[in-house]
Amino acid sequence: MTIISNRLQDILAIIESVKAVGHYPQQVNLLAVSKAQPASAVREAYVAGQIMFGENYLQEALDKQALLTDLAIEWHFIGPIQSNKTQLIAQNFAWVHSIDRLKVAQRLSDARPANLPPLQVCIQVNISHESSKSGVAPDELEALATAISKLPQLKLRGLMAIPEPSSDNNKQLIQFKQVRECYDALVAKGFALDTLSIGMSDDYQIAIEQGATIVRIGSALFGKRTSALAQKVINFKGC
Ligand SMILES: *Cc1c(COP(=O)(O)O)cnc(C)c1O
Repeated sequence: MTIISNRLQDILAIIESVKAVGHYPQQVNLLAVSKAQPASAVREAYVAGQIMFGENYLQEALDKQALLTDLAIEWHFIGPIQSNKTQLIAQNFAWVHSIDRLKVAQRLSDARPANLPPLQVCIQVNISHESSKSGVAPDELEALATAISKLPQLKLRGLMAIPEPSSDNNKQLIQFKQVRECYDALVAKGFALDTLSIGMSDDYQIAIEQGATIVRIGSALFGKRTSALAQKVINFKGC
């Protein structure tokens, strides 16, 4: 067993145990966030049974994908989206979690190749009300969901959120509850959703208690992001 496969088994066991005591009978999928990790780490996790991988930066993801074409990975795009990058995202990913405006959604739908299934998408909601410019405000969510639902090459699956980081579990809980309320409100309006993409390495157990169906985990699986690559990510200005 390698370190990554050990960590993978530990995380999957924790997911199952938290789910077992939670209120929501949901299935929880682990999305392995491989940003700033080398292709070799992705391969190692894949060999250990992991199928879904998430990337934030388009060029980094494409470089890695080129080294992993022999693996049946399901790639998820989870980073900020510049509208001039939508074509490559539509061509090279199965899922996009970070849609927060209609223009980007329209471009993704237009660029999705007809021979592929519709792009599976989540709308990113901004519940932290502060500096973060990513994510749609809760009061604009229904209009965006309505418009996205009409796009032929997109399939709206649910919501994604990145709460303001905090070591206070209660603050995380409150933020996850807010996303959950947005999700329940859309379902009550008739949207057929099944995906709540919340929870990262430090708070995924709290997220599962609030009904997360995808937890996005990087460092708890792969270890600390390596400094050279992490630096590249920090310095990164575009996509
Ligand atoms: C980096 C990142 C993650 C994973 O973060 P960890 O704390 O390393 O688990 C999850 N979601 C998004 C959008 C990210 O950018």
